[in-house]
Amino acid sequence: MTSLTSHNTFGVIASCQQLITVTTVAQLQQLCRATQSSVTLLGGGSNTLFVNNPETVWLMDIKGIDVIKDRDDAVLIRVGAGEDWHELVSYCVAQEWGGIENLALIPGKCGAAPIQNIGAYGVEIKDVLQSVSVVDRSTGSRLELHVSDLGLGYRQSHFKQEWKEKYVIDSIVLRLTKEGHHQIKSHYGAIQSTLAEMKADSPTLKDIYTAVVQIRSAKLPDPNVIGNGGSFFKNPIIPISQYQQLLSQYPEMPSYPVDDLTVKVPAGWLIDHAGWKGKQIGNVGTYSRQALVIVNHGGADGAEVIAYSRLIQQSILDLYGIQLQREINVV
Ligand SMILES: Cc1cc2nc3c(=O)[nH]c(=O)nc-3n(C[C@H](O)[C@H](O)[C@H](O)COP(=O)(O)OP(=O)(O)OC[C@H]3O[C@@H](n4cnc5c(N)ncnc54)[C@H](O)[C@@H]3O)c2cc1C
Repeated sequence: MTSLTSHNTFGVIASCQQLITVTTVAQLQQLCRATQSSVTLLGGGSNTLFVNNPETVWLMDIKGIDVIKDRDDAVLIRVGAGEDWHELVSYCVAQEWGGIENLALIPGKCGAAPIQNIGAYGVEIKDVLQSVSVVDRSTGSRLELHVSDLGLGYRQSHFKQEWKEKYVIDSIVLRLTKEGHHQIKSHYGAIQSTLAEMKADSPTLKDIYTAVVQIRSAKLPDPNVIGNGGSFFKNPIIPISQYQQLLSQYPEMPSYPVDDLTVKVPAGWLIDHAGWKGKQIGNVGTYSRQALVIVNHGGADGAEVIAYSRLIQQSILDLYGIQLQREINVV
C-alpha cells in the first residue's frame, strides 16, 4: 500500500495499492491500452477528497512548456498536464504574457485546470484556453479537443460529468496576449482597493498578480499549514423569485446576476450567516477567515469531512431552502 496523505491538500489519511507516476504521453497511451480496471487520476490533489482507498492511482507528471505560435499580439503555448499551475502563472507574468494573472496562487496541476474550469477574480481558464490534448482511456489514442467542445461552465466541464472515465488530459494549449494587447481585469473583489494601496494607477500584469497573491494569502488557508481543498461548495444559482423572497428576511444577502431568471449567491455568505465560520467538530472545522473552506485540523479522514459538510448542507437547506452542491471531487 502507498500512502496518499501527502498527495491531497486536505491531508486526509488514505492509501492506494498502486501509485504510478505518468511522465510521458507514450507511457500514458501504453497504460491506457493495458488497463481495463478503474483508475483514479490525480494532479496536485487540491480538489480531491479521499473517502475510500482507491486501488490504482495515476499521478499526472507530464512536464513541458512550449511556444507553438508566436505572433505580434499573442502567443500560443502548450503546457504539460503535470506542470504546476501557479508556477506557470508566475512564468507567464515574467514573460509579459497576459491572461492568467488573475488566477495566481490556485493550487494544483495544469492538467486539472480545465476539469472544473478554474476561476477567480473575474477570469476563468476558458477565457484563454484554446484546446486540450487528451488520451482516450479505452483505446490509448490521442486527440485534440477544441475549448468549445468541453462543456466549460461555472466550475464544470464534460470531464467532471459524462467524460469522467473517458479521457486523460496530457496537455493544454493557452492563448495569451503580448505587450500592448493585454486586457487588465481589475474590477473584481478586492483587487481595486489592493491596487490603490499599492499605488498602482495603471496596473501591469505584475501588479494584478501581486495584488491577487496578496489578497489570497490573507484570505485563504495555506494547505501546507492547514489541510483544506479550497471552496468546498459551489456558489448556488437560484431563481430570482426565490432570491427576492429571501431578501425580505435577509436584506443584506449579496448576489451576482447570471441571466434573466437566476442569480448566484455566495455560499460563503450563507454559511457564515448560518453561524459556521470558525466552528470545529472533532478534527474538522470551518476556516475562521472564509466560511466556504472546510479544514482538517489534523488527523481527520474523508468520512469525517463529509459528515461535517452534510451538517452544513442541512443547516443551509433548513435556513434558506437552498441545497448546496459540492465543488470538491470525492473519491
Ligand atoms: C487553498 C485552495 C484554493 C483554491 N482556490 C481555487 C480557486 O480560486 N478557483 C478554483 O477554480 N479552484 C480553486 N481551488 C481548487 C483547485 O486548486 C483546482 O480545482 C485545481 O485545478 C485542482 O488541481 P489538482 O491538480 O490539484 O487537481 P486534483 O485534485 O488532483 O484533481 C481534480 C480532478 O481532476 C481529475 N484530474 C486530475 N488531473 C487530470 C488529468 N490530467 N486528466 C483528467 N482528469 C484529471 C481528478 O481525477 C479529479 O477528479 C483551490 C484549492 C485550494 C486547496
